[in-house]
Amino acid sequence: MLERGAIVVIKFGSSTLVKTPGNTVNEANFASIVHSIEDLHQAGINVVIVSSGAVALGRRQLSALADKVDITSKQVLATIGQHHLMALWSSAFAQVSTLCGQVLVTKAELSSRTANLNVRDTLQAMLNAGVVPIVNENDSVAVDEIRYGDNDSLAAQVALAIGAAGVVLWTDVSGMYTGNPRIDTAARLVESLSASELEQFRKCVGGPGTHLGTGGMVTKLDAASLAATGGIWTRIVGCAPLDALMAVIAGEYPSTLVTPTVALQDGRTRWILANPGDGRIICNVGAADWIIRKGASLLAVGVVDVKGAFVRGDIVRIYNGETHIATGIARYDAYEVKQISGCREADIEQVLGYTAGPVVIHRDDLALL
Ligand code: GLU
Repeated sequence: MLERGAIVVIKFGSSTLVKTPGNTVNEANFASIVHSIEDLHQAGINVVIVSSGAVALGRRQLSALADKVDITSKQVLATIGQHHLMALWSSAFAQVSTLCGQVLVTKAELSSRTANLNVRDTLQAMLNAGVVPIVNENDSVAVDEIRYGDNDSLAAQVALAIGAAGVVLWTDVSGMYTGNPRIDTAARLVESLSASELEQFRKCVGGPGTHLGTGGMVTKLDAASLAATGGIWTRIVGCAPLDALMAVIAGEYPSTLVTPTVALQDGRTRWILANPGDGRIICNVGAADWIIRKGASLLAVGVVDVKGAFVRGDIVRIYNGETHIATGIARYDAYEVKQISGCREADIEQVLGYTAGPVVIHRDDLALL
């Protein structure tokens, strides 16, 4: 499953690292994890950890905000908990004479191409130097509208940025079930599925995460779907020994493996697929056919409608009816695309007063789904 030199991103949620009630540190789990990571290092596998726990640890220390769930309180709790979290990782890794380092990112950074490359380069350089990256969202500055909120999607984003082979989402159940295993005794563990089957399963799982973390199974499936667009597998697992992560990754314990339907995509394509804004361009059947079969550019003449706001240079989704067929970088603003929708090249200048050509999304800036 993992060759020497491969990178795996492993996400641990708050409920694995912090005990309830009381938000005390689960020291045994920290110790087990670092021993597992040593084994993975011995096998030549590079590990990036995505660690939650900042907010939960902050709750223990600042009792005045212990029960607060509003964003500002969580930001304050994260400022207290994040450095405590890192101290815990540092002392756990010190037991195996390994250094770890903190990498805090926000959605705004990973969606900018330049910053995304900087994050990738930093993570790669840390791995080259034998330092284990411990990534978390920069909760203290990430505002509600532009934050990941759950570290499942952050783990997928980090995997896409660095071109990891796989993502492990550690949780408190064995994986994805056909129903809620806590209340439905007939619920069955789905051991393996392809990314194309995710949507049908998404309907039968649900419910919030634990009271400590924010992720439930839905966020895990969304993260797996995101990773799969770039050609990266995801293993959703829990209820397995944390000191045997190598065997867990190899599938020797009950878990759910989501396999991608495409090979690992190049870095720029992964970035485009991972960071669409809210804008959508709806194209006609003919244009969709050219895009899907020939990887052709989207021309103004093939555009039927535009939804949402975007500016030139933003990443937008292309739809054929209700079907998302591709994602790419727009060459015109949303209102301009709307004005020139259906226009042939010769008419664009007259409609807009200028022209940037007939191409709305160039084939070089297009990532097919
Ligand atoms: N970033 C948050 C923290 O460290 C956790 C997000 C999540 O629950 O996934 O507390």
